Amino acid sequence: MKTEAVEISFAIITLGCDKNKVDSEIIAASMTEAGFTQIEQPEKAQIVIINTCSFIQPAIIETLDTLFAAIGYKDEKSGYPIVAACGCFVDRYGSEFITNQIPELDLSFSIQNGSKAGMILSSYLSSRNLPQPTIQEYANLPSSYLQLSEATMIKRGVAFIRISDGCNKSCSFCTIPSFKGKHRSVPSEKILQICSTKARLGIKELNLVAQDLLPYGSDLQPPQSLTGLLGRLNTIPEVEWIRLLYLYPDFVDMEILEFIAANPKMVKYLDIPMQHIHPKILRAMNRPGNPEKYIRLIENIRRTVPDVAIRSSFILGYPGEGDDEFTELKHFIQEIKLNHIGIFLYADEEKTKAFAQKSKVDSQTVEERRDKIMMVQQEISQNHLARLVGRTIPVLIEEEINGEYVGRTQWDAPEVDGQTFVLSNEPLQKGRIYSVEITESLDYDLLAEYRSY
Ligand code: SF4
Repeated sequence: MKTEAVEISFAIITLGCDKNKVDSEIIAASMTEAGFTQIEQPEKAQIVIINTCSFIQPAIIETLDTLFAAIGYKDEKSGYPIVAACGCFVDRYGSEFITNQIPELDLSFSIQNGSKAGMILSSYLSSRNLPQPTIQEYANLPSSYLQLSEATMIKRGVAFIRISDGCNKSCSFCTIPSFKGKHRSVPSEKILQICSTKARLGIKELNLVAQDLLPYGSDLQPPQSLTGLLGRLNTIPEVEWIRLLYLYPDFVDMEILEFIAANPKMVKYLDIPMQHIHPKILRAMNRPGNPEKYIRLIENIRRTVPDVAIRSSFILGYPGEGDDEFTELKHFIQEIKLNHIGIFLYADEEKTKAFAQKSKVDSQTVEERRDKIMMVQQEISQNHLARLVGRTIPVLIEEEINGEYVGRTQWDAPEVDGQTFVLSNEPLQKGRIYSVEITESLDYDLLAEYRSY
């Protein structure tokens, strides 16, 4: 007997970092394979899955706001949408605790089970006698993970690939090692297979993500290396850009810098989160850096990789950060003139060493410090971008808005850095790289023109 197809829609809301994007892709693949239909708008979906973040207090607040907003979509009569939570927030506090604390939440599951999301949701529907979706056939594709890359990432030509997970370090403000566990690498064969398939599906830019990319492969048998993996990824003909997110600054060495310099597919971009530069604060953070070492590192990067853009992130208001420590950080940022910076405001996290540290900084002071740093950085960014005016450079087109195209140069990472707005005398394709002339620079963005003649 032929069963009638039942379409059950789902939407995923992804909070937090790029690594969560990869997990969401896996969840969506599993859901699609189980017969659910992905849609963009959570308010119209029958199932809403929220892939949460709990990195710092503001991320937890955003997670709770998002969960309650999704719960707010519920129709009292039908009970839809079914709201499910997964990700760092769930793994940090435990599934049972979360569903007890938020009874309106229908279910939660560990991100370790992301690849089983379709099965988990199907069982949930069945336990409540709700309709099940009709399974689709995806016989010709190597795996559901790859199938989904076609559905979600191709439109911008960009993919995020997690090459390892977990972390062996113990920064005193960070909870990640406590629930992600020790550093574990994905074998290079598997990464190569995923990236090759993504490239054939139209991906031009691979963003390799991990808590720290540098120890890649040291845990594999036989051991592998990051540059060994990059060498293999560089042979994929369709891939044009490979970006590394992120490198722990104290372990950046000549091998990786020379590799980036020598290989045209490697974007000339380094993201090296320093978190602070004052020795007292770095010691309290349980990080080995110091300002002299970081200045030498940045000089070395600029010498070895010409035309490079450097991004770093800093935590402001770490316990013990007095005016002197802050002023030294601000001075460093003023002098070293990084292309991009990200600022996090310190927030207490239970179960971290920082939680017990004294001399907490009040939130108003921290916010004022953020504003001061951002003013300094705005001028630095303007100056960097002004130097690009008149140059013809490659831009990856990601969107079209009212006849204007929006893209990125190799010196801007997806979603965190600036954009390039392109006027063109002919239609451009999303997910392709074009040479455009930069006509104007703003604080963080660029304006450009593309001419086909
Ligand atoms: S390097 Fe430090 S901040 Fe980064 S994940 Fe590991 S412990 Fe956390």
